[in-house]
Amino acid sequence: MTDLLTLKDRRRLTPDTHAYTFTRPEGFSFTPGHATELAIQREGWREKGRPFTFTSLPDADHLEFVIKSYPDHEGVTDQLPTLRAGEMVAIEAPFGALSDRGPGTFIAAGAGITPFLAILRARAASRRLGGCRLIYTNKTAADIILHDELSALPGLTSHFTVTDEAAPGVEKARIDRGWLKGRIEDVSGRFYLCGPQGFVDDIRSALQDLGASRDMIHTEEGW
Ligand SMILES: Cc1cc2nc3c(=O)[nH]c(=O)nc-3n(C[C@H](O)[C@H](O)[C@H](O)COP(=O)(O)OP(=O)(O)OC[C@H]3O[C@@H](n4cnc5c(N)ncnc54)[C@H](O)[C@@H]3O)c2cc1C
Repeated sequence: MTDLLTLKDRRRLTPDTHAYTFTRPEGFSFTPGHATELAIQREGWREKGRPFTFTSLPDADHLEFVIKSYPDHEGVTDQLPTLRAGEMVAIEAPFGALSDRGPGTFIAAGAGITPFLAILRARAASRRLGGCRLIYTNKTAADIILHDELSALPGLTSHFTVTDEAAPGVEKARIDRGWLKGRIEDVSGRFYLCGPQGFVDDIRSALQDLGASRDMIHTEEGW
């Protein structure tokens, strides 16, 4: 089923990422971690639906998406920051591979934080973040999406790493088998991975190498 949403607000989170707040259709529901195909309702863009993840709380009165733009090509993510309040997008039925299956270690790169933002916000709202840990990697500290909010989630243990330049409060490191080995005490726990396909593939094999079981590693593929 297609639903039309009206843009209420857009705010910049990092140099290339915005949070978009839309109206929520009556009776619309989704599971934290799930995505939808979203198409801008402008001439020439209606047929170009792309997958994006809901980041608002499931019972909020609005729908939010956090979207990274790729201005190096004229795609949907480059067009989205030009939307003005009052313009519309169409969304399809929610879908997704990631959802909350219990406390665990959430490992994200870049815009791959979005399903975890939804899941961790929902857990925070019901004070269920005990036993949850976030490992979030980006190129630079300025690229970290919602750094302050994620650092302040009560009960969540967070590690922020950057690969390209050192900065206060973040570790300059590449997340690989060696880095994970020093930090993951219990490989029998649950793991959630999201980010570019190469990142997901590398972290999944590093975790399996360290002894994690394949069925305890949950991933969203095809970013
Ligand atoms: C289930 C799912 C959920 C997602 N949720 C989110 C989310 O919540 N937030 C978010 O920011 N992203 C999310 N993504 C990723 C998002 O869907 C893509 O970034 C988006 O589809 C890109 O659309 P586009 O029209 O801008 O790029 P397209 O033109 O469709 O290009 C697709 C990809 O090809 C590459 N590419 C194509 N042309 C070029 C070029 N000339 N130069 C460089 N690279 C190029 C880019 O990597 C680009 O991401 C999600 C993906 C999936 C599968």
